[in-house]
Amino acid sequence: MKKWVYLFDEVKEVEKIRGGDWDEVKGLVGGKGAGLLDMTRAGVPVPPFFTVTTEACNEFQKAGKFPAGMWAQELAALKMIEKATGKKFGDLKNPLLVSCRSGAKFSMPGMMDTVLNIGLTDETAAGMVELTGNPRFVYDAYRRLVEMFGTVVLGIQDEAFEEPLKEYKSRKGYKLDTEMTADDWKHMVSVFREVVKKHIGFDFPQDPFKQLELATEAVFKSWNGKRAVDYRNHEGIPHDLGTAVNIVTMVFGNMGDDSGTGVAFTRNPSTGDKKMMGDYLLNAQGEDVVAGIRNTDPIENLKNHMPEAYHQFMDITAKLEKHYRDIQDVEFTIERKKLWMLQTRVGKRTAKAAVKIAADMVNEGLITREEAVKRVTPEQVDALLHPQFNAEALKNADKAGTLFAKGVNASPGAAVGQAYFDADTAEKMAKEHKQDVIMVRPFTKPDDVHGMIAAKGVLTSEGGATSHAAVVARQFGIPCIVGASMIKINLETRIMSVDNKTVREGEWISVDGTTGNVFIGKVPMTAASLEEQTELMTLLKWADEICARKDLRVAPKGWPTRGLMVWANADYPRDARRARSYGAVGIGLCRTEHMFFEPERLPIVQRMILAETSEARTKALNELLPTQRKDFDGLFEAMDGYPVIIRLIDPPLHEFMPSEEALLEEVITMRVKGETAGLAEKEKLLKSIQGMHESNPMMGLRGVRLSIVMPEIVEMQVRAIFEAAADCVLRGIVVKPEVMIPLTGTVKELEWIQPRLIRIAAAVLAEKKIQKLDYKFGTMIEIPRAAVTAEEIAKHAEFFSFGTNDLTQMTFGYSRDDAERNFLVTYVEQGILPKNPFQTLDRDGVGRLMKMAIEDGRKTRPELEVGICGEHGGDPDSIEWCHMIGNNYVSCSPFRVPIARLAAAHVALKYAPKKSAKKTAAQKKKVVAKKAVKKAKAKTAKRK
Ligand code: PEP
Ligand code: MG
Repeated sequence: MKKWVYLFDEVKEVEKIRGGDWDEVKGLVGGKGAGLLDMTRAGVPVPPFFTVTTEACNEFQKAGKFPAGMWAQELAALKMIEKATGKKFGDLKNPLLVSCRSGAKFSMPGMMDTVLNIGLTDETAAGMVELTGNPRFVYDAYRRLVEMFGTVVLGIQDEAFEEPLKEYKSRKGYKLDTEMTADDWKHMVSVFREVVKKHIGFDFPQDPFKQLELATEAVFKSWNGKRAVDYRNHEGIPHDLGTAVNIVTMVFGNMGDDSGTGVAFTRNPSTGDKKMMGDYLLNAQGEDVVAGIRNTDPIENLKNHMPEAYHQFMDITAKLEKHYRDIQDVEFTIERKKLWMLQTRVGKRTAKAAVKIAADMVNEGLITREEAVKRVTPEQVDALLHPQFNAEALKNADKAGTLFAKGVNASPGAAVGQAYFDADTAEKMAKEHKQDVIMVRPFTKPDDVHGMIAAKGVLTSEGGATSHAAVVARQFGIPCIVGASMIKINLETRIMSVDNKTVREGEWISVDGTTGNVFIGKVPMTAASLEEQTELMTLLKWADEICARKDLRVAPKGWPTRGLMVWANADYPRDARRARSYGAVGIGLCRTEHMFFEPERLPIVQRMILAETSEARTKALNELLPTQRKDFDGLFEAMDGYPVIIRLIDPPLHEFMPSEEALLEEVITMRVKGETAGLAEKEKLLKSIQGMHESNPMMGLRGVRLSIVMPEIVEMQVRAIFEAAADCVLRGIVVKPEVMIPLTGTVKELEWIQPRLIRIAAAVLAEKKIQKLDYKFGTMIEIPRAAVTAEEIAKHAEFFSFGTNDLTQMTFGYSRDDAERNFLVTYVEQGILPKNPFQTLDRDGVGRLMKMAIEDGRKTRPELEVGICGEHGGDPDSIEWCHMIGNNYVSCSPFRVPIARLAAAHVALKYAPKKSAKKTAAQKKKVVAKKAVKKAKAKTAKRK
């Protein structure tokens, strides 16, 4: 007969059946059951109990009834509990009462059901009164049973019980439950029993065994209750695990002032401080503490109330923490001075506490550095680095109905500011009027960057996770929500609205980039900084040490055998400095075109673009050269000793020009009004811009194509790069420039442009008399054809960097700027795509192309340096893929560097070659052969 039930002293049997694996033990008897079994084994006082397995629950879900033999085993186990306690279930003189508690493999706090005080009936209650001499306690316990049974087992609404109690209390003039007398509670028992009868049509069962049977069934059923299912969906817990049911002898904390009950964490779960944190109540039952009906006492006070129980409790919890090597969340009850432990489980904690506890436990010798690193999630690091809204304040805002809209959570963090609807106003209000500003736009363009930088947060109604607004905001660590398509922004009236809620320009809003929620008004915030978070810095240092190990990846010759390095995308020296302080060891992408948008440079850039002769163009470029050189100089200096990848100009030229529509309107207005001054120039400019018009600019004249059609720009850029590098070398700075050619689709493009650029580099170095400089020329892989022909491309490219924003766009054929707004959200909701591929790499398509490109590229050039600089470089799931396929590094916005460092260490550990205890047959042979040689040598030595 299959064993469905395990007794408190059967931990060995459970372990045996689960092959000694504790995780498997938890799978069978649930986390709570496993904790109780383990505590019992360790001699911790746990009330006698038994556990019905998760397997029984799963059988119940299939058949709709208990599996054969289960109930008989439950009854047999109950007999053993009776023996251990000296009490008897249903006995009139000394009745045993039990609780029926859910307990799945993974803790799901409050999501499933529990029934306490099972075994009380009219008759046993009378017996209990005799026994305890405390009728108030007994009838209080009894009414709790009828109420819990009614709501949990019979499905009656809570209010059906709460209302008559409230009414009774007000009739009696009571404020608190503590004012209720024995007779009052006894009366409530009969009232509650009436409630049951009225709602269900039958009496509350007076058979204790029926109570137990129905309670067990109810806990099984609560596994598929809505709360539990939603929670599992959110937490990613599988739905087929089932819950165990723990039947535990009741112990009572409400037996007088020598009794009490409480909950505690062995460390502070909010700050991580190594100090017990808990609450208790004298003369109370379990749920009173959690429900907050009465003011609880801090756990330290127990020392004065019941010193013996307190010291025993401190001793036990210290041992439990040491045993489980993690913060414990415990429940206890003291019944007439005797301490009972009712639960121990790993405590849930905030991000801050997770980091502190992990670091402290390494220092205390409880866990290894690897374990500490594994215990903190990249999401927790993320949460620690951005200013956040106060959780309580968010709840209040939600309640107050100030939630305005929801969009794509493009850049995490919280921002509060006054909403302004264009970049110039946003900048002006921030700079001149010192306001906190949220820039709100339908979408952003490169010439909006100044407004974004000045803003605390950015909100757009269009665009997706890799839209301009999203990319730039992440890069600068600005909280940002994009694609909040329910918002209508009226740029005429300067009002934005969602249904009947409106926000006028200049009014306060709060933007939660972590969740994508926008609130009207100011939601209070808490700030964050990496440097101040010493434990996090330590943890990240350990993560780097893990990644730096030389033997973490088994790979062909030339491929990386250490973990991933983390580089950063940075355009300006100040970003590079931040990236370095956040732990980046290289710049993986400097988008040089951002430098062209600076207000004082843009007119020169426009002159250069509009130049009709090569001389005029060269003149404008010569004006740009010193500023570009200065930019690069600053970058190299900031990254002294580390590689810096500079990408040559990428976007289509029209992005640098005034908007065609605005100019057309201006020209028409001037014509209509008959204004002639300056009209001819404007008409000429309009004609030029119209001449540049492309129907599909993202697939048009940009990237390397632009370099071939108009090589003067990139020639100037390469000169600026190498002049800056040479100047830095002469100042003693270690410079490792890597020149990156964007949007390559065929090797012929590289064959055309690269030698010209190399010649310029060599000429500059010769002019500056630099003998040796460590530099590379390489390309972005962002067009599928480049990935497919990587073997040829690697003949010229010394490095590849996957531009997965464009590679995703081109592989799927989805516009990176419009897809989210138009259909991607629906695709994810409908399960057509598992996730937004612009946020998390699509391994099956884009990822496979990357893998192929790396393998083929390294056939030509085994040491080929490979990175990623698309937005995926900061996404933990995508980082895992980059590790698996052989990237050297990932590059992401400076603010995501710490997250990426941790994620890189996690995957390095996950895929590290296992030091197998079992040697392969070949290794065994080798060992035998070696031993034989040693023996033979020893023999010869002896003879000598
Ligand atoms: C990319 O395409 O992934 C990339 C990094 O380039 P950009 O986002 O500038 O097009
Ligand atoms: Mg690109």
